[in-house]
Amino acid sequence: MQGLNSKWTAGILVFFLFLLTGCQGNAVPGKEATIAAEEGIIVIGAGAAGLAASIEAAQAGSKVLLLEKLPMVGGSMLCSGGTIYAAQSPVQLREGITDSAEALADFWLQEAQGPVDADLIRLVAQHSGETIGWLEELGVEFAPPVPGGTCPIARAHRVVEEGGAGLAKILARAAKDAGVEILLETRAQALLTDDGGAVVGVEAVGEDGQRISFGARAVVLATGGFDRNEELLAQYSPSALSIPINFGRVGNVGDGLLMAREVGADIVAVDGALGCRGVGEDMPYTHPIGALGLTPTLCVNSRGERLTSEEVDCSCFYRAMQEDGDSTFYSIFSAVSYDPALEEALEKGVAYRGNTLADLAATAGIDKEGLEATVAQYNMSVAQGQYAQFAGDIGSFLPTQEASSLLPIDHGPFYALRLVPATRGTIGGPRINLKGQVLDREGEAIPGLYAAGEVANGQFFSPSCPATGTSLQYCLTMGRIAGRGAVGH
Ligand SMILES: Cc1cc2nc3c(=O)[nH]c(=O)nc-3n(C[C@H](O)[C@H](O)[C@H](O)COP(=O)(O)OP(=O)(O)OC[C@H]3O[C@@H](n4cnc5c(N)ncnc54)[C@H](O)[C@@H]3O)c2cc1C
Repeated sequence: MQGLNSKWTAGILVFFLFLLTGCQGNAVPGKEATIAAEEGIIVIGAGAAGLAASIEAAQAGSKVLLLEKLPMVGGSMLCSGGTIYAAQSPVQLREGITDSAEALADFWLQEAQGPVDADLIRLVAQHSGETIGWLEELGVEFAPPVPGGTCPIARAHRVVEEGGAGLAKILARAAKDAGVEILLETRAQALLTDDGGAVVGVEAVGEDGQRISFGARAVVLATGGFDRNEELLAQYSPSALSIPINFGRVGNVGDGLLMAREVGADIVAVDGALGCRGVGEDMPYTHPIGALGLTPTLCVNSRGERLTSEEVDCSCFYRAMQEDGDSTFYSIFSAVSYDPALEEALEKGVAYRGNTLADLAATAGIDKEGLEATVAQYNMSVAQGQYAQFAGDIGSFLPTQEASSLLPIDHGPFYALRLVPATRGTIGGPRINLKGQVLDREGEAIPGLYAAGEVANGQFFSPSCPATGTSLQYCLTMGRIAGRGAVGH
């Protein structure tokens, strides 16, 4: 509890008084809660959404306490590529890229294959460029944007220094500079409510196992998804259970969803996932073999058929895998695209080798005729620069057509790296309005309760991510909106 100032200590005292007076459940006696509720905002979860909410609330003059159950801040952003999708950003303007928030919203809406909240999508699109500018002001440097998803407009903004980990460092520093008090290894476990059902604080478990209660004027849930909670997956997103690889972080067990549900929030269920591709759960993109899985080289299914252009982003590639319906896919390498990490992949049993394509097909279990025909056609189009020839609907646009990095598959030895669909986040959670307030089953805002980020993304994605960078954009922008809303509460 080191570093707690007197205001938050007052919140703890309220809780002990609460225990002494023998109160049960979530209700906090009105008088004490009112005293504590004047103290400030509590944000639960220090990922992209929680850090953005905290910075905004603190910069708006509020006292902010940020609770994080893990020993470090950053959440999923830490292992992300740090790509953020946006329109009308200052970076696009400097690069001379013509774009509009309306066009971005239309793209996101077109790509949705299930029910989404069009107003929420338009809101995030409208603020997307501004969020990039806000990050630049905090010190984030972006590379010139490139196209992402199936859209030819250059909207994918990549953080130059260390990707998502670099972004997390800058946001953490900005939060500290703004005066946000961060308590690590402190797990929120319940929302405290007053007699009228308003959220007035948080009950948490501290680093040494003690129960602590904090009063607050408003609480922002930013606890991320529920990838690591099989019960919640089975209930709200059953198809995600069969995705072979789960890159979701250890803290993503749906605490926020459960806490919101406990106080009457309406839960939006979407049977889908923020998908990508991977080699193995123990081989994330920071691992040499995991990184090899992102190489743009011919990728086929077990029938030897190509799925899409391999130069589309990870979200699109995941969708192509889902549409194909096969369970295992293979990235094909030859002498010219050889990478030493393939040897380690062979040892681990996630890659196959053959001196000829026929040998490779036999070892890997790929249809020989299919593979040979696809490779011949692929080589021909690489030679002629007609990459789009093989692309299906998803990959009909090739982002880097002029400067394609695709190499021919001509000389052995040949390698096949096994790839499977992977998830990097869940979809679904408490329903929110455009201010980030959590809504109950009657559609009324639960007083004092806000949610932002992956914990509350069920109205935005359906049933997958339209383009890599959309999730971080959603988390950051809605975090900022919820943080400001909580201050005004
Ligand atoms: C490998 C990988 C690559 C990705 N690449 C990209 C990309 O390039 N672009 C993109 O847009 N998206 C990407 N994503 C997705 C994106 O990173 C996430 O959707 C986003 O970071 C989620 O942010 P969040 O703040 O909502 O949640 P999280 O990042 O999950 O943060 C939630 C935080 O809350 C904490 N927490 C949970 N419960 C409690 C509790 N009870 N008490 C206290 N703390 C709690 C957690 O420990 C965690 O730190 C990627 C994801 C992964 C896994």
